[in-house]
Amino acid sequence: MTAECSGHVLVVEDNADNRALVVKVLSRRGYRVAEAVSGEEALAVARRERPDLVLMDLNLEGMSGFEAARRMKADPGLRHVPVVAITAYAMVGDRERALEAGCDGYIPKPIDVRRLPDQVAEYLRGTRP
Ligand code: MN
Repeated sequence: MTAECSGHVLVVEDNADNRALVVKVLSRRGYRVAEAVSGEEALAVARRERPDLVLMDLNLEGMSGFEAARRMKADPGLRHVPVVAITAYAMVGDRERALEAGCDGYIPKPIDVRRLPDQVAEYLRGTRP
């Protein structure tokens, strides 16, 4: 499966290595990728660039990913944009909290980079993997 993908994805992740890996994997498959390192920046970039999908790390310095998702879903210009939480397996309750915050789904950490482009494609099509 090496089909070219299309879509504009905002990657929100405060860990530089994780962020670079996700950006590389998605870019290589043809996605247009924007990046943000904090919840505040995620909101600013999302409002400016209107991505098709947001991948949201929940554990961010300052504003959490939960709060950033909540604010996106409270913004009439952004609420239609799917937000997929990136959650650590060990963090019991994060998935439920992510859905309560308005996230449309979640992808567990550590991210499986071989599956990620297809998972993103499924969320972009509106079907959950
Ligand atoms: Mn983090």
